[in-house]
Amino acid sequence: MSEEGKADGKLLRLREIDREYRLLGHTAAILHWDQETCMPEGAVRERAEQLSLMSGLMHDRITQPEIGELLGGLGVSLDPDPRLPERFQGLDRAFLRELARAYRRNSRIPRRVVTELAKATTIGQRVWVEARKAADFSRFSGQLSVILDLVREVSSCLGYRDHTYDPLLDEYEPWMNSAELEEVFAELSAGLVRLLDRIRGSGKTVDTEFLHRSYEIEKQKAFGRSVLEALGYDFSRGRLDESAHPFTTTLGSSDVRITTRYNRRFLPAALFGTIHECGHGLYELGFDEAVRGTLLAEGASLGIHESQSRMMENLIGRSMPFWSHFYPQLKDLFPGSLEGVDLRRFYEGVNGVAPSLIRVEADEVTYNLHIMLRFDLEKQLVGGELAVEDLPDAWNEGMERLLGLVPPDDAQGVLQDIHWSGGMVGYFPTYALGNLYAAQFFDTLKRDVSDWREQIESGRFEPVLDWLKSNVHAHARVYPARELCTRITGEPLDPRFLLDYLQEKFGEIYGF
Ligand code: ZN
Repeated sequence: MSEEGKADGKLLRLREIDREYRLLGHTAAILHWDQETCMPEGAVRERAEQLSLMSGLMHDRITQPEIGELLGGLGVSLDPDPRLPERFQGLDRAFLRELARAYRRNSRIPRRVVTELAKATTIGQRVWVEARKAADFSRFSGQLSVILDLVREVSSCLGYRDHTYDPLLDEYEPWMNSAELEEVFAELSAGLVRLLDRIRGSGKTVDTEFLHRSYEIEKQKAFGRSVLEALGYDFSRGRLDESAHPFTTTLGSSDVRITTRYNRRFLPAALFGTIHECGHGLYELGFDEAVRGTLLAEGASLGIHESQSRMMENLIGRSMPFWSHFYPQLKDLFPGSLEGVDLRRFYEGVNGVAPSLIRVEADEVTYNLHIMLRFDLEKQLVGGELAVEDLPDAWNEGMERLLGLVPPDDAQGVLQDIHWSGGMVGYFPTYALGNLYAAQFFDTLKRDVSDWREQIESGRFEPVLDWLKSNVHAHARVYPARELCTRITGEPLDPRFLLDYLQEKFGEIYGF
């Protein structure tokens, strides 16, 4: 057989292994979706066993030595930045790059560390729930130290050049490092603090009282569904269900499901939660045929994924054109609760800016400051510059410096998020990256679809959606996030796009 023929055979075999790995992943996703939406309570224990078996099988598949041998045989190196022979181009090249990355990450970490981390985080989440209920960080600090030791071990198994944090960040935001991130965040945080000062200095407060009136859940459901349909979410390839924490999950190339939760006395919860998940769902449903069912059928990174949900939720879903179209329908559904609330008051209400203690409730301006605080602290924690017992003080100081607020207790401060108890260090920055990419992509979209406002005002979402599909969604994970950003916008990630967008929007609302 010719050299080329042998190479084709190896590539084919790697694609087969990947296909099985994906099928296992989608099967596990069904178990997980079921658990979160409709599983009877009594099934919890056995479901945990089923899911643990599935993740074991997946781990075995992606770490089988055959993958390393085949990649080696094709001349693909297993460095953090893999070398790929020139003869592989296009989708083959992207496939090998991502497979080498997945194989390397999974096989470098010894089974002992994987099992210990799984155990430590299961305990961690339980202890965190109790500590948060008691608003007492000291009850969680011991277990957090155990988790952080293991997370550091993961990092050193994977190896890094500059900082312990880098391989952890790379898990969620492939091919990005903390030095790059710091540069972007420094500019962003300076701009946000300035903007927040101007908003405070404007003396204007926005009325949000009407959002807390009573909104019948059945009507919220009907409205949410009509918004999803207008946004092009395809119900023949997806579903909308309810769960305690909203999420999007992919069970197959043509089965991408989203969930939401309803609150009778707070309209934005389900409304913007649904639109957010719809953005994630449209991304997954829009992957090009050629990559479906392979490991390239993923978001380029969590940051890029979040850019699609945040763009839908904020840049589109909280925009004036969007509500010019939808508000009359909403008002017809809730004539009592929205009595006396005109379009302008509604628009301002869903966009009000006020520093607050809780990240998930934060507005578009202050949200990113919450993220930067977490990034700063988790980087210091894994780098050994901040001791676990000093974390609550560091948190409170950071909150005061960035937002001018000091949490009254740990539950409303350092204990509010689940991530660290689950060992998810390096995840938080992807939320802010999502906002940054969203604004930068949207800037190009506005130029390409110059009548986007008029289109959305009249309920025609196709031009915007078509743009997103061909410029972002179709590419899936074929290009690393950095390259995708340059391809779409002509330049690397730059915080000025988000800062300009926020300045323009909130300058108009707050009158400066
Ligand atoms: Zn999201």
